[in-house]
Amino acid sequence: MLFKKHITKLFLFFILINLFLFIPIILVQGDNENKDKITFTFAPKGKAHKAHNETTKRPLWQRIETKHTVIQYENLKDLKKFEGKIDYSQDKFFFKGLFFSSTSNDPKKAVNKKVEALFERVQEILDMRTKINKIIINIYPNKNRLDEIYYHITGTKCRIRSWYIYESNTIYINASDVHEGILAHEMAHAIIDHYFSIRPPRVTAEILARYVDEHVHF
Ligand SMILES: [Zn+2]
Repeated sequence: MLFKKHITKLFLFFILINLFLFIPIILVQGDNENKDKITFTFAPKGKAHKAHNETTKRPLWQRIETKHTVIQYENLKDLKKFEGKIDYSQDKFFFKGLFFSSTSNDPKKAVNKKVEALFERVQEILDMRTKINKIIINIYPNKNRLDEIYYHITGTKCRIRSWYIYESNTIYINASDVHEGILAHEMAHAIIDHYFSIRPPRVTAEILARYVDEHVHF
């Protein structure tokens, strides 16, 4: 509780400072799957604006464009790892065997199917189906690389497993530490933040996003 109070105070402090100085606030939304999730919103230091250009500075990215997302990854090994961790498909119960056998040889096709199925499931749970720009999903190979990019964006140490940045409409994911619930949670943030004409309060969005990741399979 004490920790929460401090966070609230810090948050209010940042808001006030930003209001007075007219500095645009870029919010990083962090998610940790633990019970006592570190859930926070803060205004990173000056490096935050780099989030917008970060993807264009990486010529090594490979991309898959799906109906609702742009998935960026460094090599096929990472993509395969990511594909193996996302346990979701629309035809899960009836066609499970068929689905996996027909796509297992082509990780790009498999990822496309799974990510699209998951996106539609998140829309369904939230009952929010407005059209939004394609969500960018950046897949990093391991925790070190995820921590590195987090530090690059925020100037602080990474204590979370994934996050979403509204301003660049980008999800940051670690291929070595992800599952369908984590990805669904971050997709939910993207959908929620674009659904209302005014973005809902951080706490409200977090409650909805958690509801989504807990109900992916129900
Ligand atoms: Zn969240």
